[in-house]
Parts: sequence; structure tokens; C-alpha cells
Amino acid sequence: MSNFETNAIRIQTERSGAKEHSAPIYLTSSYKFDDAEDMRALFANEREGNIYSRYSNPNTSELIEKMAILEGSETGWATSTGMAAIFTTFAAFLKSGDHVLSSRSVFGSTHQLLVNVFPKWGVTSTYADLDKPEEWENLIQPTTKMIFVETPSNPGIDIIDLEWLGKFAKKHNAILVVDNCFATPYLQQPIKYGADLSIHSATKYIDGQGRTLGGLILGSQKLIAEIEGFARHSGPAMSPFNAWMLSKSLETLAVRMDRHCDNALKVAEFLEANPEIELVKYPLLKSHPQYEIAKKQMRAGGGIVTFVVKGGYDRASKFMDALKMFSISANLGDTRSIATHPASSTHSKLTEAERQQVGINQGTVRVSIGLEHIDDILKDIKQALEVSKL
Ligand SMILES: *Cc1c(COP(=O)(O)O)cnc(C)c1O
Repeated sequence: MSNFETNAIRIQTERSGAKEHSAPIYLTSSYKFDDAEDMRALFANEREGNIYSRYSNPNTSELIEKMAILEGSETGWATSTGMAAIFTTFAAFLKSGDHVLSSRSVFGSTHQLLVNVFPKWGVTSTYADLDKPEEWENLIQPTTKMIFVETPSNPGIDIIDLEWLGKFAKKHNAILVVDNCFATPYLQQPIKYGADLSIHSATKYIDGQGRTLGGLILGSQKLIAEIEGFARHSGPAMSPFNAWMLSKSLETLAVRMDRHCDNALKVAEFLEANPEIELVKYPLLKSHPQYEIAKKQMRAGGGIVTFVVKGGYDRASKFMDALKMFSISANLGDTRSIATHPASSTHSKLTEAERQQVGINQGTVRVSIGLEHIDDILKDIKQALEVSKL
């Protein structure tokens, strides 16, 4: 249709006949049929329409339609949480004997699924490093059914070349799934580079205001039909209320992301110039090892900055405690700036060796830069670094 911002605002389904300017919420668990023949035709998939809100609802349909256009995919599916989207994707495609090649740096609960849940059903996985694509060829197996990556990764902010990865997955006949949560479709469109499915925790930037949980899976009609086949009967459905809220949130995604990215780049530059900081990872810092790739595939760097403060755990926790405005929270992608200490929270289930492998040490702090005024954000970081000096 039109440009990103226009699509995010103007794709809206008026279904009630009331000529509402802003889409209403359809709080109904089920739908009625004109007659017995109409009911039969809907169940036989001969006609499109709503049957039951575990399958579809005007609000989830609107959200999916809009997200699919923004991501450049044919269609999609909405789930109650981001993890429900990831679990549903694994469960829909993987069977006993299959193998998943995954980036090492994945969301903590995704790691749990790969390491503790799916092996119970005979699905194995191997981790590969995002920054060493030359090694991927050796890690693929004849049974590799799926390649799963997060780029940029959490919290290491590593990046992989999606164009290369798309070709690699095709060559090995594997389904390429990208967790696009950190970038959102505004910053990065993995399907354009050959990803088969793009997944979101809509809890993060899609809502962007820390209000709700949600998940989205975008892809081709063919693959989403497989997702639907599993999700309809296992029930990880998104509620109409959450879908309504997320569809409204998309209307401001572009302006929010622009500001998140501007603020985060300024924070990254500030930290990089500060002698109290050992390392800063942000996609659009020239010091980032994959800076050129980030520039190629991302519109801007996103809202997350990860850094290592000198002085290890003690300094990192003192820094967090000294923050006056930032919230200490495990969430990200909120209007409010948030600080997290991954080693003791989101990634505490990993061993120290596993954490080292994904670039987390005891001094690592992840900040999700919000939409407060940049001067106030920098002021808070500056004073917390000062106060926390050992
Ligand atoms: C938060 C997050 C998830 C999980 O999403 P939920 O909505 O919390 O279930 C998955 N991947 C990434 C990258 C995330 O940040």
C-alpha cells in the first residue's frame, strides 16, 4: 500500500457498520452463523469468517493484517506472549529426530525450550556464534530442520548478516526463523532477506508502553497454515483486548522507534567516551564488529545498549542502585528507561561459562533507553557512574 507510517495507521478494519473512526474492541468469545449451511461452509474453510476467538477475532485479524504488511510477509498469527509464539513455531514444525541450529545468544526462555523442553520430545539443538558465520557450515546436520536466530541478540547485541543467512538456510533446506523483537519491522525486515518466519514479543516495542504481553509470527500462507493447525487446537490465543491495544500501538511505532534510536545512540556514544566503561555494544557504533552489516540491514540501531562497567558485579549493582530515574526491571522496549543486570536476572540460569560465551560478564549492564528527554537520561547515567565509583 503506502509508506510504513501510513500503513501502520491507516490499515484498519471497519466491521461494525457504525462508521467508527478508531477500531472498536470485539469482546466476544464466539460468532454466530446465518444458517446451518453457513456454519458448515465456515468449518470447511470454504468461506472466511470468525468461528471462535481461539481461532480468530476482528481485532487479532486487524493486527495480523497490519503487521504482515509492515514486515513484508503474506500473513501471520497472533499469540498470547512472545514465548507462546516461539513455542508454537517450534511445536508446529519440529518432530522427534529433528535438529535446530540456533544462535547461541537467545532469550533466556528460548534457551530453556531448546535445552530442557524440546529434548524431551527428541528434538536436539546446537548453538552457533552470530559473529562467526564461517563456522556455521560445520554445525549444520542432515537432520537440521530449523535455523533460529536473534539479531541483534539479547543482551550481547551481536548481529548476523541476514542476506548471507537467508541463502545459507535455503541451501540447507532449513526453515529460517528470526526473532525480530529488538529491531521491530520498522528497523529490520528479515523476510526480505530470505527468512521464512519473523517472530516478535509484542510485549516489547510493538506495545512499547509496558502494558501488555503479546506475540506475533509472520510468514507465508503455507507456513502460517502449519502454525494455525497447531495453535487452533493448543490454544495460545491473543485476547481481543490485547490485539486492539497492540494495533493502536503500531500507529506510533515509527515515531517511537526514531526517538528510542536517537536517544540510545547518544547514550552509547556517551558511554564509549567514558573511562569507567570497559566495553559498549550498540549496532551503530563504529566500534561494533558488525557495524557494516548493521548499517546494511537496519534502518537504525534500536533502543538497547549493553555495556560493561569497570569493577564487576559490585560496581554494576552499585550503579543500578544509584540510578534515580531508570527503573530496575527485566522488561525492555518501554517508554521508561530500564536497567537490567543480565548475569543475576534474565541470564542467571546459564552457567558462568555459558554466560561468557554469549558475552555476559558480572559487570554487564543492559539498558533499554526510553523516551524521556535525553538530557535527563544522560544525567541519570552520569551521576550513577560517579556515585558507584569503588
Ligand atoms: C521478551 C522476549 C521474548 C519473550 O517474549 P514474552 O512476550 O515475554 O513471552 C522473546 N525474545 C526476545 C528477544 C525477547 O526480548
